[in-house]
Amino acid sequence: MQTIYQKMETTELDAAIEALKAEVAEVKAKGLALDMARGKPSPSQVDISRPMLDILNADADLHDGNVDCSNYGCFEGIPSARKLAGEFLGCPAEQTLVLGSSSLLIEHDIAGMFWRCGSCGSEPWEAYEAAHDGKKVKFLCPVPGYDRHFGITADLGIENVPVAMTDNGPDMDEIERLVAADDSIKGIWCVPKYSNPTGITFSEDTVRRLVEMPTAAPDFRIFWDNAYCVHDLYDETDELANIFDLARAAGTEDRVVAFASTSKITFPGAGIGFIGASPAVIAEFSKRLKAGLISADKLNQLRHVRFLPTIEAVKEHMKKHAEFLRPRFEAVERKLTEGLGDTDCATWTHPRGGYFVSFDGPEGSAQKVAALCADLGVKLTPAGATWPYGKDPRDTNIRIAPSYPTVEDLEAALDVLVLAVKLVAAELARA
Ligand code: PLP
Repeated sequence: MQTIYQKMETTELDAAIEALKAEVAEVKAKGLALDMARGKPSPSQVDISRPMLDILNADADLHDGNVDCSNYGCFEGIPSARKLAGEFLGCPAEQTLVLGSSSLLIEHDIAGMFWRCGSCGSEPWEAYEAAHDGKKVKFLCPVPGYDRHFGITADLGIENVPVAMTDNGPDMDEIERLVAADDSIKGIWCVPKYSNPTGITFSEDTVRRLVEMPTAAPDFRIFWDNAYCVHDLYDETDELANIFDLARAAGTEDRVVAFASTSKITFPGAGIGFIGASPAVIAEFSKRLKAGLISADKLNQLRHVRFLPTIEAVKEHMKKHAEFLRPRFEAVERKLTEGLGDTDCATWTHPRGGYFVSFDGPEGSAQKVAALCADLGVKLTPAGATWPYGKDPRDTNIRIAPSYPTVEDLEAALDVLVLAVKLVAAELARA
C-alpha cells in the first residue's frame, strides 16, 4: 500500500514537507516533556489498591488457616493465595507456587533451571550445544513481543528466533514446521491474553495446536505468561482457552509453564507472583528454588488474599482499573484515526484489554519517528524493542504505552507521534 506522500507529485510533496516542518518547529518551541514509554499504571490508578495497606496491622491475625504467615514455612505459598493463583492460571492449586513480588523473576529462574539442570529426564539445555557440534539452543519469540522476555533467553545465551504474530496468536503453520524439524528449539514465549504489545488474544485453535504439535525436542516448553489474564477494558471480554485442560488431554502437560502476578492489579513490583505447571515440573522447580529460598513474603500474600479473596473480587477490582485505562485506549484510537486514518501511513491494533497498542509505520520509519518524538519531548519505548536483540528488520514497529500519562498529556503525546509519523513518511517518500 502506498502512503499519501508516495502518491504526491514532487512539488506537492515538497510543500507538504515544508508545512510539516513548520508544525514541528511550533511543537518544539512548546518544550514538552511527555512519556509514553513503559506500561505502568498511573499514580491515581495505583491508589485504588491503597486500602490493602491498612489490612495488616499489629493487631491482625496473621494466620491463613493454620499457616502462620509471620514465620518461616509454607515454601509453596499460603493456601488461599495458591487457590487464587490456580484460578488465575487455570490449574489446580496444588500445581502452583506463590512466590515473591515478580513473575518475571520466576520466568528467569525457571528458564535457568531448564538451562542448568534440565527437567523431566531431559538433559540441561546448556549441555545441548556441546553435544550437537556447537548448535545453539533456540527459543521462538512471537513478534512484536515483550523485550524483557527476549532478554531472559538472550541472557542465557539462547538464540531468539522471531516468528510472526497474527490476529489469532503466533503463526502456527510456521511454528509447527520449525519445531517438528529442529530439536534445538526448546520453547516459545507467549503472552496469550491481551498480548504485549499487540493486545490480541490467542484463539482456541492456536492454544490447541501449541499443545498438540509434535516437537523434535522432547523438552519443548511453552512459557505462558498470562500477565494480562484479568485486564479487560470492557464487560465483553476476550476469552482464552484453558491451556492446562488442552495439554492434559493431549498428554503434554509438562510442556506448559504458566505465570502471572498482581503487579498491574495491586502494586507494580510489590504484588504477588505465581507459577503453574505440571506436578513433575513444580516438584523439580521447588527442589531447585529451595536451595536459595526458605519461604517467600507470606505477609504480602496474606494481605493480598484478604483484599482480593476470590477471582470474582479480582474482577470487580479490575473494573476500577478499566475506568482509568479505557479513556486512554480510546484516546489512542481516536487520535490515530483522526491523524493518520486516511494517510495509509500506519496501522495499529485495537486492544480490548492489557496495557499496550502496537503501531506500525512505513518501512524504515520507526527509529526516525522515535528520534523525532524524543527531540520534541515525547519519550516512546525504543524502536526495535519489540524484536529480539532490539532489531526490527523492517523498522516499522512502535509500542504505545498509554496507561501512565494523564489523558490530556497522552493526547498531546499522540499529536506529536502523528506529526512525527507524517513528516518521516513524507521524507521517506521524497528519498
Ligand atoms: N510479563 C509481561 C507480559 C509484562 O508485560 C510485564 C510487565 O510489563 C511483566 C511480565 C512483569 O511482571 P512482574 O512485575 O510480575 O515481574
